Amino acid sequence: MKTIKVNIVTPDGPVNASEADMVIASTETGEIGILPGHIAMVAPLQIGALRLKKDNTTTNIAIHGGFIEVRPDVVTVLAQHAELASDIDLARAERAAKRAEQELQAKTDKLDAQLVQLDLKRAINRINVHKMK
Ligand code: ATP
Repeated sequence: MKTIKVNIVTPDGPVNASEADMVIASTETGEIGILPGHIAMVAPLQIGALRLKKDNTTTNIAIHGGFIEVRPDVVTVLAQHAELASDIDLARAERAAKRAEQELQAKTDKLDAQLVQLDLKRAINRINVHKMK
């Protein structure tokens, strides 16, 4: 069976380099499934999960914004932050979510509120991806 190469890179360095049978990504216009031989494209990514399916296992990765570049034989994800589910510190993400919720309730000014909303989204994404099977 054909596979597709996947490279995930952040400003801190590579997070994962592997081969997948299928890649599922959360783009800003919705979830897409990418198989080997997919047409070339570039799309912005949401804060969400990247799922790499290989044989009967799925590797889940929390992706915090960025871009996906697809070519027929390779997928490259450039993200500000990305963590493999197994590397996510659940307690830290839960603390971050709680802190953000408290800050939002404290009614900070509009600009801060937007940043705190993003903190909350990242924390919830980490919690969700950590729990994915
Ligand atoms: P916190 O408030 O918990 O410190 P943060 O919102 O400041 O989180 P980010 O700015 O999104 O965190 O990320 C900073 C760095 O910390 C990145 O390298 C990211 O991968 C890592 N990181 C953040 N939260 C977690 C987590 N729960 N588990 C593993 N790595 C994390």
